[in-house]
Amino acid sequence: MSTVIINNINDVRKNVIDWKKSGLKIGLVPTMGALHNGHASLIKKAKEMCDKVVVSVFVNPIQFGPNEDYDKYPRTLEKDRELCDKLGADIVFAPTPKEMYGENKKLSNTDLTFVCPPYNLVDCLCGKSRPGHFDGVATVVLKLFNIVTPDYAFFGQKDAQQLFILKNMVKDLNLNLTIISCPIVREDDGLALSSRNTYLSPDERKSALTISKALKQIELSYKQGITDTNILFDAAISVLDKNIEPEYIEFRNFETFEKVTEAKQNTLVAIAARAGKTRLIDNIIL
Ligand code: AMP
Repeated sequence: MSTVIINNINDVRKNVIDWKKSGLKIGLVPTMGALHNGHASLIKKAKEMCDKVVVSVFVNPIQFGPNEDYDKYPRTLEKDRELCDKLGADIVFAPTPKEMYGENKKLSNTDLTFVCPPYNLVDCLCGKSRPGHFDGVATVVLKLFNIVTPDYAFFGQKDAQQLFILKNMVKDLNLNLTIISCPIVREDDGLALSSRNTYLSPDERKSALTISKALKQIELSYKQGITDTNILFDAAISVLDKNIEPEYIEFRNFETFEKVTEAKQNTLVAIAARAGKTRLIDNIIL
């Protein structure tokens, strides 16, 4: 059976009800589309662990700020469906914003119920420059969970803060599913795959490569015995191309998400930086 695109919530639910009656395990891979091998790795993992796999493709308006790239975000639905088909996913759920949020509502918390993740997890890293972003993410992901009712949901470690926030949401709201975290997939030269890489000019791409190189440099220095995060920070900055504008390079305990001043095992090193107008994120765990 080839992968079908379903735009309608009730039609997804009908499939899910049939699957549950047959006792099948359901996996959900939430995405914004423009699928690449990073997304493919999540879908493959879902296929390994589940009987039925739903890939959602939804550029979620409520997680974009007013000056962000919602309108120009790449939309390649038929190509996405073909990849999902090749990987054996069952459904691509691609709702419109109206289907997800209703006809007559303003897409803000004046009119809509939002999920607000804890302030301590939101007021740092990407949340600092993207106010409201993680409320939008948590809200849409909870909606997707309620629509698809998966046993497992698959997320990339590429978005480490998002992963941490969503794992907390599952725990705090007693959601009956397990989040599976999947490693970052990179190009051969080290650049982390991202749908936003399509925005990069050849020169910007060259500069952007120094983001993963900076993380590698931190890893190398750490392996040589340097644990002071100020020194590791400087080592990373020295590797970054002059055309890369760092927004943050932060060291956090990946268990608690607390900031650390001494790097050790399981320290998350997260970076956000701009190459031209394109904002990119990447991270490693030491
Ligand atoms: P997005 O479409 O960017 O919202 O991403 C959908 C999911 O794919 C998220 O869980 C991301 O963390 C994951 N993802 C994006 N890029 C990568 C990558 N390079 N490697 C692994 N997972 C990724």
